Amino acid sequence: MNIGGTMYKNILVPIDVWEKELTDMVTPHVESLAKLEDARIHFLAVIPAFPYGGFESGLSVADLEKRLIDSTKKELGEIIRKFSLPEDRADRYIVIGRPKDKILERAEAISADLIIIGSRRPSISTYLLGSTAAAVVRYAKTSVLVVR
Ligand code: ADP
Repeated sequence: MNIGGTMYKNILVPIDVWEKELTDMVTPHVESLAKLEDARIHFLAVIPAFPYGGFESGLSVADLEKRLIDSTKKELGEIIRKFSLPEDRADRYIVIGRPKDKILERAEAISADLIIIGSRRPSISTYLLGSTAAAVVRYAKTSVLVVR
């Protein structure tokens, strides 16, 4: 145990910006650990890569991606604003890819010493652990706090 609170310096908080209920469950845990530890919080929103073809929208893949990135940025910004965290202690990242891969990659890149995730969407009651959460718990080299 490290007296003075330097156990968790870099905490990765992956956020599914379209699942507000899940984020609400995670928020108090992030806030209290951030306060306790004086940690830097790294928020990460992953836009799932999907086959962009076949749309009738007339938008190019680049336009669609730009729109998705813009709306995700806006959502993530609003979510972060609701956290009571000092601005200079929070970083944000928005990337496109497979959520579990990007979460694991980012954890390495920032030398995370903790990842805080929600366990699953509350509306889905068949599993206790969603597929992204399960993969993170299974493959992350760092400790993971799964909020239920
Ligand atoms: P479910 O399958 O019920 O949606 P998930 O395993 O996908 O459950 O979600 C659990 C947690 O995984 C979320 O609380 C979030 O921390 C993380 N997560 C899921 N999808 C994303 C995403 N697209 N970007 C960032 N984090 C995500």
